[in-house]
Amino acid sequence: MTTQLNKKAPTLKGKVNGNVLIPGDTGYDGARRIWNAMIDRRPEVIVQCATSDDVAQAIAFARDNDLEISVRGGGHNIAGYAVCDKGLMIDFSTMKNVRVDTGARRAYVEPGATLSDFDRAVQAHGLATPVGINSTTGIAGLTLGGGFGWLTRQYGLTIDNLASADLVTADGKKAHASDHDNPDLFWAIRGGGGNFGVVTQFEFKLHPVGPEILAGLIVFPFDQAKQVLKQYREYVRSAPTEVNVWVVLRKAPPLPFLPEAVHGNEVVVLAVFYSGDIAEGTKLIDPVRRFGDVLGEHVGPMPYVQWQQAFDPLLTPGARNYWKSHNFTELGDGALGTMIEYAATLPSMQCEIFLGLVAGVANDVPPDATAYNSRDARFVMNVHGRWDNAAQDENCISWSRAFFKAAAPYASAGGYVNFMTAEEDNRIAAAYGSNYARLLQIKQRYDPENIFHFNQNICVSSEGIGTIRQKRSA
Ligand SMILES: Cc1cc2nc3c(=O)[nH]c(=O)nc-3n(C[C@H](O)[C@H](O)[C@H](O)COP(=O)(O)OP(=O)(O)OC[C@H]3O[C@@H](n4cnc5c(N)ncnc54)[C@H](O)[C@@H]3O)c2cc1C
Repeated sequence: MTTQLNKKAPTLKGKVNGNVLIPGDTGYDGARRIWNAMIDRRPEVIVQCATSDDVAQAIAFARDNDLEISVRGGGHNIAGYAVCDKGLMIDFSTMKNVRVDTGARRAYVEPGATLSDFDRAVQAHGLATPVGINSTTGIAGLTLGGGFGWLTRQYGLTIDNLASADLVTADGKKAHASDHDNPDLFWAIRGGGGNFGVVTQFEFKLHPVGPEILAGLIVFPFDQAKQVLKQYREYVRSAPTEVNVWVVLRKAPPLPFLPEAVHGNEVVVLAVFYSGDIAEGTKLIDPVRRFGDVLGEHVGPMPYVQWQQAFDPLLTPGARNYWKSHNFTELGDGALGTMIEYAATLPSMQCEIFLGLVAGVANDVPPDATAYNSRDARFVMNVHGRWDNAAQDENCISWSRAFFKAAAPYASAGGYVNFMTAEEDNRIAAAYGSNYARLLQIKQRYDPENIFHFNQNICVSSEGIGTIRQKRSA
């Protein structure tokens, strides 16, 4: 296969404006590397698209040569679906432009943009929309799966702020998707991932935010975890949506505002955020300090873009990662107790239990309004199994799995596809719940041959996704 393709790749080179890379080319190894170091795959061809016509050419080439297709936005998906083995990778790393229409409060965003590219461009005009909390994440994958972050309580999921998208579909045709054009497709891409086509531009609604916001970390001793988390639960029940507080249970990194004696010990970290008047936010956040005996804190006014990068040092690329996630509508004592029990046995310095608060306007959207179905979720919990050395794989993975299993009885239905690993194909139908049947119909219409299957797959093929994956990897 490789030799044949090596001969054919120059033809593709002549047809695209962007770059075509094959194994051995300069830049090939850099292009196939993604955030999760557990993924080490080698596509036969990488097409670094420069235009939507390039995308159509790449799809046609893959079809003609029976190549599996993967699509890379920011390369952060934990399952590693950005990069395939032996197939064709559509790589958007050179399409990162963000254009802002300040009058209409809209941003037009190319699919290779990271959250940092997006936030910097829109914040230059004092605008923002809810996106994730690690600035190197890609806007494309995050949006297509749902997307949430600090602004979600106030403005909903990222998809709730998507006004339209341009795609290239499986037949190589271009399609515009919005409430008015191809509304079924627009419904499906708001949560249905990369199943329906390759997005070449997103249009987002924007809101006035900051540029200065109030945010930071407040750290408590682990032996007070129970009292801190119970008070947290009560506090967030009535806190206005401009306030957000996420919980991280982990071993304390050597942060300068924490006493050295605490470094490396388990701690409870509350990450607080307020977008609005700083004096008002200071008053609203103050009760959080009284949840326990504060070991250290670093809270104050700062630019929104700075806070959007605050977690980057803990989430750098190159580590080994294995995640498991649950949604919760309520945090009962059982859920909190399980979190505390497993946080007491963290198998590495970097492993953590992360609880994102999404309660707010995202809950007011009906579950059938977009493909994303978990509108009852008030919290999204993610077990970040993370470590550096392959010798720790088994230990860290089995800890993550055991915690996931122990927490399952307290979790709500559904799930967040953007946090699912490759072994969780069996959770996908449940993640979409009552929307799954409609997703299958729309998939049948736009991609009946399931050529976009290297993802959290909505599988319309007669053979299941497990068989497709097995055949392709043989
Ligand atoms: C450190 C870290 C922090 C995170 N924090 C958050 C968070 O705060 N909130 C949140 O909601 N999520 C968060 N996530 C999850 C994140 O949303 C997903 O990992 C998402 O898939 C990343 O998008 P990407 O473009 O970087 O990934 P990629 O791996 O490049 O893409 C993911 C998948 O999306 C599809 N895709 C990508 N681009 C396109 C396109 N142009 N057209 C069609 N399909 C495409 C493909 O199927 C691809 O496999 C985080 C992930 C990481 C690693």
